[in-house]
Amino acid sequence: MEICAICGLNEAITRDHVPPKSIFPKPRPENLITVPACSDCNNGASDLDDLFKVYLSMHAASGSDIARRLFTEKTARTLERNKALLSRIAEESKELEIEDEKGNVVTRTGVLWDSKAHDAVIERTIRGLYFTHTGNVVPRATVLKVQWLHGVPEDIESRIDLFTEVTIGDDQVIYKYLICEEDPRYSLWVFEFYGAHWASGHISPRE
Ligand SMILES: [Zn+2]
Repeated sequence: MEICAICGLNEAITRDHVPPKSIFPKPRPENLITVPACSDCNNGASDLDDLFKVYLSMHAASGSDIARRLFTEKTARTLERNKALLSRIAEESKELEIEDEKGNVVTRTGVLWDSKAHDAVIERTIRGLYFTHTGNVVPRATVLKVQWLHGVPEDIESRIDLFTEVTIGDDQVIYKYLICEEDPRYSLWVFEFYGAHWASGHISPRE
């Protein structure tokens, strides 16, 4: 039997997109990545994927045409259907004073990102991509930690030759990864979404 690439436990009966398909407006890139998944991992993910899409598009829409399309074509429809989410976002929004590119202070609406959905989607994506690039599920007795970033860290940028870089679509998602050859329980993953959101994750043995 084929094992689920996400949980590494159950039998895979379907295929799952990593990162989630919903963050790509149509026409979708041709090089989307899928991995074998069990029904639990597949069904449990769609609500979190939806939340991830909503917040990502709200954060990225001002800087990217494709992200703007993601917002107008998909997120707006999700919010129309989901009044509870719409009012939660409204409650969590804050007027913020920030400096624009020219150094002028302007008022923008800031939206807090649902961090549970964020971390769950990044974690599942890393587990799926680990399988894609190694042919194995993430080793047991490891921990996976997700972090938010404000850009690609300098120490990674300077050692970029060590990392393998993959681009999905027209720069919609770029990720870089490094899996330790001697001990594949160690790996590091960095994601850039729509040039506007960065996240990283690392896997290491449980102490
Ligand atoms: Zn599973």
